[in-house]
Amino acid sequence: MLLADKKALIMGVANKRSIAWGIAQGFRREGAELAFTYQNERLKDNLMELLREVPGGESAPTLPCDVQQDDQVAEVFRALGDRWGKLDVVVHSLAFADREDLNRAFSEISRKGYTLALDISAYSLICCARAAKPLLQASGGGSIMTMTYNAVERVVPSYNVMAVAKAALETGVRYLAAELGPANIRVNAISAGPLKTLAASAVRGISQFRDVVEEKAPLRRNITQEDVGDAAVFLASDLSRAVTGNIIFVDSGFHIMGLTP
Ligand code: NAD
Repeated sequence: MLLADKKALIMGVANKRSIAWGIAQGFRREGAELAFTYQNERLKDNLMELLREVPGGESAPTLPCDVQQDDQVAEVFRALGDRWGKLDVVVHSLAFADREDLNRAFSEISRKGYTLALDISAYSLICCARAAKPLLQASGGGSIMTMTYNAVERVVPSYNVMAVAKAALETGVRYLAAELGPANIRVNAISAGPLKTLAASAVRGISQFRDVVEEKAPLRRNITQEDVGDAAVFLASDLSRAVTGNIIFVDSGFHIMGLTP
C-alpha cells in the first residue's frame, strides 16, 4: 500500500469520468484516507452518489469549494485541520473557461473571459497551496499536484484561452515548487492526454484529438483515467520524494512528436 497513512484532499470531482475521480480510485487502492471538495450543490449530489458506491466512501469529508471564493478555500483547510490536524496530499484537478472564449478566434478572446479562465484554472493553485501549507507542514511536508495539457508549448486548435491558463498554471507549479521545497512540500503537474470529460466537452474536436493520439502517439493508444490515477499515486507517494517542479506527461508519448506523418 503506497499511500497507507496518507491523508489526501481531492478537488475537482464532477462525475465518474472526472480525472479527479480516477485519481481517487488509485489513492483508495493504495490505502489513502480521502477528503473531497465540490464546486456547488449540483455537483455535491454527483459526488455523494459516487461515494455511496465505494466501500467506506460515505465517511469521507466532503466540503464546498468554489475556488473563486477565498472564504470557501480557507474554510476547507480549516475544517481539515480540525478533522485531521495534518494533510499529506492535495490534488488540484479543476479548470474553467467560457465556451465562447474557447471556440472563437484566439485574437477575439474577451478580457472578461481571459480573467475568468486564469482565475479559476491557474490562480486557484496558488491560493490552495498557500492555504494548504500549514497542514502539509504538520505532516513534515507533502505533495501538491495539478493537471495540465500540452497546448502550452504547441498550438492546439480550440484550446485558446485555456492554453494561456495552463501556461500560467505550469509556471505556478515551478514557482511554488521553488518556494515550498524548503518545507519539503513538492509541487508537480501531470500533463494528461485527451480524455472525454465534462470539461473537455467544451473544447471543440476532443474526439478528433483522441483519434490522432491513437494513430500517432508512440504507444499508439489513448490514455485512461487509471493511467493518470497511477501517475498521481507515484506523485503522492514517497517514491517521488525527490521529484518537484515537474510536468509529468501521461500522454502515450504524444508530446515528443514533431511532424506526425
Ligand atoms: P471535469 O469536468 O470532470 O473536472 C473539472 C472540474 O473543475 C469540475 O469538478 C468542476 O467542478 C471544477 N471547477 C470548475 N470551476 C470551478 C470553480 N470555480 N471552483 C471549483 N471547482 C471548479 O474535467 P477533467 O477533464 O477531469 O478536468 C480536470 C483537470 O484536468 C482540469 O484542470 C483539466 O484542464 C485537466 N485536463 C483535462 C484533460 C482532458 O482531456 N479531459 C487533459 C489534460 C488536463
